[in-house]
Amino acid sequence: MAPNNRQPIRVLVVDDEQAVLDAYRQVLGKAARSSADREAMDELRAKLFVAGAGAPAAVGSLPQRNQFEPVFCNGAEAAVAAVREACGAGRPFAVVFLDMRMPPGPDGAWAAGRIREIDPQVEIVICTAYSDVDPMEISRRVPPEDKLFYLQKPFHPHEVRQMALALGEKRANEEHRLTQVEDFDPLTGLSNRARFLAHLKEAVRAARQQDRLLSVLYVDLDNFRRINDVLGHIVGDEMMRNVAQRLQEILRRGAVAASASRPDAGTDDIARLGGDQFMLLLRDVGSPDDASAVAADLTRPLTAPARASQSPVTLTASVGIAIFPNDSTDEEDLLRHSGIAMYDAKRRGHGQFAFFGRAMSDGAQTRFSLERQLERALAGNEFSLHYQPQFDLGTGLISGMEALLRWTNAELGVISPDEFIPLAEETGLIQPIGEWVLRTACRQFRDWLDTGLAPGRIAVNVSARQFADSNFCRLVTDVQRECRLAPGHLELEITESLMMKDEAHTRRLLSELRNHGISIAIDDFGMGYSSLGRLSEFSVNRLKIDRSFVQNVDGLGRHATIVTAIVAMARALGVDVVAEGVENFGQLLQLQDQKCNEAQGFLLSKPLHAAEATELLQRLEASTATSRTMRLRSLAG
Ligand code: C2E
Ligand code: CA
Ligand code: CA
Repeated sequence: MAPNNRQPIRVLVVDDEQAVLDAYRQVLGKAARSSADREAMDELRAKLFVAGAGAPAAVGSLPQRNQFEPVFCNGAEAAVAAVREACGAGRPFAVVFLDMRMPPGPDGAWAAGRIREIDPQVEIVICTAYSDVDPMEISRRVPPEDKLFYLQKPFHPHEVRQMALALGEKRANEEHRLTQVEDFDPLTGLSNRARFLAHLKEAVRAARQQDRLLSVLYVDLDNFRRINDVLGHIVGDEMMRNVAQRLQEILRRGAVAASASRPDAGTDDIARLGGDQFMLLLRDVGSPDDASAVAADLTRPLTAPARASQSPVTLTASVGIAIFPNDSTDEEDLLRHSGIAMYDAKRRGHGQFAFFGRAMSDGAQTRFSLERQLERALAGNEFSLHYQPQFDLGTGLISGMEALLRWTNAELGVISPDEFIPLAEETGLIQPIGEWVLRTACRQFRDWLDTGLAPGRIAVNVSARQFADSNFCRLVTDVQRECRLAPGHLELEITESLMMKDEAHTRRLLSELRNHGISIAIDDFGMGYSSLGRLSEFSVNRLKIDRSFVQNVDGLGRHATIVTAIVAMARALGVDVVAEGVENFGQLLQLQDQKCNEAQGFLLSKPLHAAEATELLQRLEASTATSRTMRLRSLAG
């Protein structure tokens, strides 16, 4: 939908007083024509929209006729039903005006919550005559804050009308932006891969006809993850936009130098591939030297703005070059070859560039093809989850299942998560993959519950990049709701180093998750540098003692002492402890002696396919009569 469409704005009005509804009816019924209206409207828009958050369209393009299509309801439940029906019919409301008090039925805050669940995009205006409504409280209950507004009764008719106009326009703008997402990268506004490939195809055809050389440059930032880690993702995003701008300037200069006939190389010829990788297209290069001149420009270090207390961070890029028709005449191949060249350049050190060569290193080829395959793995259904049970050492029963990701690729075989998770992190693919893991694991857990099994809780591993995402909490609670999980059913495993990265963010996010009944475990505990004292400041339910300590716990050495100390201190802090990687009875007995709560490891069970895990749960269900020791022994075989 275009932002300046002339479709009437769909408005839902909810109020229990007939007189108020009549007033709304009058206000929303006729078209606004006076210039005073327009001025007031502009003013309101300036107040409603922060810069960048939905730039309003030009005033002259405002809809004039049949501006509104209002629907009226006199109670909260009817309003929720109306929203559900509108969404079901594919004609959602843009704005809902919601009276706060509608006795004897549920109030506006309740309705706002339900409506938000059904339609996350709708703009909600809470109308109230009472000052005892705390906007902060409702905003907290019905996020996001920028889609919730307040109107104090009694209000002026113009207020209602203009708010409806402005918010209707805001929603239309947002929908317009959503359709653009398919073609453009939302962070930098550059083309995305698909759009770039389409342009490249076109350019290859033209170059062939005119017998010209064309060049594709693959740019990968060398130490971008460090920027995100050290300066946080907000600065990281800002840097990414700066980089995009700089690449555009270089491309423009390069295009001017290479060919006076095409000084207008624009954003079509540059794309962000996701993560910290970019593609550039030089449509007309006189010789490969022209391409290397641009590449040299691209590899020049860029310095990130420093925060007060920190030293500036220097950013470099590695660049790979492929030339049409020398290296290939196919656009996909050109892209692939430039990527292989880039990895070859990177292997030789940061800030280098390289031309593609037939004899490029195996390492670069492998890494490049691994990354390409990983991009397609999700769509190709190549992932699966294994489940490894965690056992309560007091009862011998299963206390939880940890979901572990598996990737099986037709060409590459089975790839270990230790190999592909870091790659997924670097490329940003961990976000969609992590979402898939979370949803699949929670659905499996729901299935177990529905068939009467008791798997305790489901534990899902979360990587730093997912954790840094501002929508993460929302995603988790959405899945929690979808799968009807009770508090304590879902546990997220995060590593110690992740927690210590951005402490303020971590503390906030953890307590938010905790408020939603999500449990948190610290994975690989003991490997990082944090002290237990520091951990007590975070909302954490469990520590998982790293395998390396558990492995030697049955000896008399240092590791046994470390485990004893961790268990004792965790107990003092009211935090549970799981020992990871238990492989023999000696270790198990030692851990029981030390009053460790739970254990996980090959001795008790390897990670299992979903079907095998179900079978194990059923077997244990049938044996609840036997003693704890018998159960643990029967598991260990
Ligand atoms: P982790 O979270 O520490 O997971 C435990 C790893 O130890 C698993 O390896 C598991 O198979 C292995 N393990 C379990 N018991 C034993 C034992 O008794 N002895 C030994 N030697 N190993 C044992 P896996 O499945 O290869 O996973 C490796 C790592 O990959 C995980 O370490 C985790 O950090 C990461 N990972 C796996 N799935 C996901 C995921 O869905 N998301 C994210 N972000 N990371 C994941
Ligand atoms: Ca884990
Ligand atoms: Ca672990």
